[in-house]
Amino acid sequence: MTHAADSIFENADGHTLGPTDESFDAVAVYEGRIVRIGSDHEVRFLEGVETDVIDCAGRTLLPGFIDAHTHMEVVGRRLLHADLGAATGRGEALDLLRAESSGEWVLGYGYDESTWDDRWYLTRNELDAVSTERPVVAFREDLHTASANSVVLDRYADELPESGVERKRGEPTGVITDDAAEFLRAETAPDRAETKRLVEAARDHAHERGVTGVHDMVRRSHAPAAYRELARDGDLDLRVRLYYWADHLDAIDELGLVTNGGNEYVEVGGVKTFTDGSIGAGTAKLSTPYADRDGTGEWVVPPEELAGIVERATALDLQLAVHAIGDEAIAETLDALPADTALRHRIEHAELLPDDLSAFDAVASMQPNFLRWAREGGLYETRLGDERTAASNRVSDVLDAAVPLAFGSDCMPLDPLYGVQQVVTAPRESQQLSVTEALRAYTSGAAYAGHDEDRLGMIAPGMCADFVILSESPWEVDPSTIAGVEVEMTVVDGEVVHSRVDRSRSGVAF
Ligand SMILES: [Zn+2]
Repeated sequence: MTHAADSIFENADGHTLGPTDESFDAVAVYEGRIVRIGSDHEVRFLEGVETDVIDCAGRTLLPGFIDAHTHMEVVGRRLLHADLGAATGRGEALDLLRAESSGEWVLGYGYDESTWDDRWYLTRNELDAVSTERPVVAFREDLHTASANSVVLDRYADELPESGVERKRGEPTGVITDDAAEFLRAETAPDRAETKRLVEAARDHAHERGVTGVHDMVRRSHAPAAYRELARDGDLDLRVRLYYWADHLDAIDELGLVTNGGNEYVEVGGVKTFTDGSIGAGTAKLSTPYADRDGTGEWVVPPEELAGIVERATALDLQLAVHAIGDEAIAETLDALPADTALRHRIEHAELLPDDLSAFDAVASMQPNFLRWAREGGLYETRLGDERTAASNRVSDVLDAAVPLAFGSDCMPLDPLYGVQQVVTAPRESQQLSVTEALRAYTSGAAYAGHDEDRLGMIAPGMCADFVILSESPWEVDPSTIAGVEVEMTVVDGEVVHSRVDRSRSGVAF
């Protein structure tokens, strides 16, 4: 016996984004699941008196985006504190910090000096000009580098790991890296109630970008508690897969968390660990020296330590998500990961892949938005030189080698369509994907990385009713304008969680 649908989305330019990307006009939803797709005529048979019929007015309907690498709490901080990602120069960044007055600390997030004319980190002197009374910290986009004012440097003089405090003629410049930056992140961490506010703000922001699921990387954070509280109360409206930092392994063991354990909304992914730093901070581990500085980068987690983490996580049946950016870090990670792939271990970022990918026995969890640094005059060119820039983020080679590819934003910015534009218009063939391939990496690819391909990432009967409706077809607009396509509507579990138009009247075209 067939039930009448709870809702029908009709008159759509629908794409399943399945293995063969089939098109359809309409999709019917019952109890949060897709029950039928097909022509308007075929699907309308499921219309009952109570069915909510949404006329998509010919717009493009796709599976909801799954962002395979997020830091939602950080997104929340950027939304509720100074968002320095918007600053086009240091003067503007400093103005944004001056305007920040939400607490004792002056906090800013997401600055990217590589896009500024002078290309240097914010300094102690500049931040002293923001305030000499309140502690001021501006975090760089990758969070591996921060800048602090004198109040912070004096207050934590004894506690900040010395190796991460940059000095000139013995005096701290205000530039703080790696362990010391992590220390400042912990010191400025929000409490549980505040974290819930941050996560809710980030969730709403994600919905506006068409994101219906995230793989969230968490460390010493109240975010997992906030997600579970929201899910319990039926308010999460986002599929969250959690990756806990390796320093939580004892707790994970004690609590008995296992990969894929959880519910429809919050599930355990596994364990996240670093190996190296980032190209932006000059700390990604390379096999040959940087182009603009001495050395080959640094281990954040050295190979011996990584081996111990891999062994422990494997014994606990936990999926690993290993941050590895430089070619040396990726080689060490591939060495360390067990060949058994049932857990689908993942390498996060994977910016400088080995030439030969035949031994790449892991999911490549990559960021198409990083390709903006691979363009002429971009960050990679400065740090790495032309040859390595050309060989960065080889997503097309990854697909050719049949390596599973998942896309995530790392929240730089959290915006799948921005990433899709970057990869579709990437400067070199090895870095370029078609629109369909790019969208798949952000849907079924990410679902696969999260062991969720049976319920997420594709539009087909039986799958969760998570989808987006776009203002224009990303296949039809000028590729350099894909990021400008609007997310008209986001649907999670059959419920509209974001809409650009007022849908208070049911059944109307938007
Ligand atoms: Zn990250």
